[in-house]
Amino acid sequence: MAKIICDLPYRYIHSAKVILASAICLITVFSALGLRDMGVYELVYGIGQCSLSPAAVAVAATRPPYVIAIDPGHGGMDTGAQAIVEEYEVIDATSAYLYQLLENDPDFIPILTRTDTDPESSARAETANNACASLLISIHANSDSHRSSKGFECFPQPPGRAYHSQSLHFAQLIVEQMRAAGHTIRGDENKTGIKYAYYYGDTKKIVDSADSKVRSRKSFGILEKTNCPAVLAEQCFITNYSDVENWATDAGCHKAAQLYYAAIKQFFSN
Ligand SMILES: [Zn+2]
Repeated sequence: MAKIICDLPYRYIHSAKVILASAICLITVFSALGLRDMGVYELVYGIGQCSLSPAAVAVAATRPPYVIAIDPGHGGMDTGAQAIVEEYEVIDATSAYLYQLLENDPDFIPILTRTDTDPESSARAETANNACASLLISIHANSDSHRSSKGFECFPQPPGRAYHSQSLHFAQLIVEQMRAAGHTIRGDENKTGIKYAYYYGDTKKIVDSADSKVRSRKSFGILEKTNCPAVLAEQCFITNYSDVENWATDAGCHKAAQLYYAAIKQFFSN
C-alpha cells in the first residue's frame, strides 16, 4: 500500500505529461490541416488514440514533451537469442531503465510497444504510431557463432525512407555515446557502427552505412512500419564474455540505458 501511495504523484505527473503532449499533438495537427476554424478543437478525443496520417504526425512533434517509443525487441514467448545470457533479459532490463530515465524527465513521455507479450512488429509499430511517437528505439542484443565477435551496432531506417536522415542522425548520436563510454564499435574500415539490413526472402543482407544505395527490399519490420525516426540497436554480443560483462549485466544495461537517454536528449536539443 505504501508503495502505491508513493507512486501516486508520479502517476499524476505522467498523466499530465500525456495530456499535454496529446493536446499539443492534436492542436498542431489540426492547425496544419487548416481545421482551426471548423470547430474541431471542440471534439473530444481519447488520450493515446490519435491515429493520424504520417504527414500529420511529422508536424505534430515540434515541442516537448516528446513521446518516445521504446521497443523491446523480444518478449513474451519470443525470448530472442540464448547464449551466455538470454537476449530478452538484456532487453527487459535496458528498456526498464530507459523508461525510468525518460519518465523522470518532463521533456519526455516514454511508451513501451509491448509488456511481456508477443505482438508482431506491425502491432508494435502501430502502438508507437497511435501514440504519436516522435522517436523509436528498438533494443536487441546480438549473437554470433564466433565467440570473438563483439561490439555495438545500430540500424537506422534505410536510405529512401521518409525518416532516413533523422534516423541516421539519431544512430550517429547513439554510436558516439557508446564510443565515448568505451564500447567497441563495429563496422567496415570506418567503424561507424551503423548498418542497414535488407531482406531478400528469408535471407538477410547487411551493408555498411557507406552503402547509401536506395533499395526497395524491406528492412526490419519495426523500422519500415514506424511513422517517425527509428533505429534498432544491437547493444552487445551475448555470445562474447567481455561484452556480456560490460553491457549485459544489470549495471551494463543501466549504463547502456543512460547512453541511449543522453542520445535522445541530444537529438531533441539540436
Ligand atoms: Zn533480437
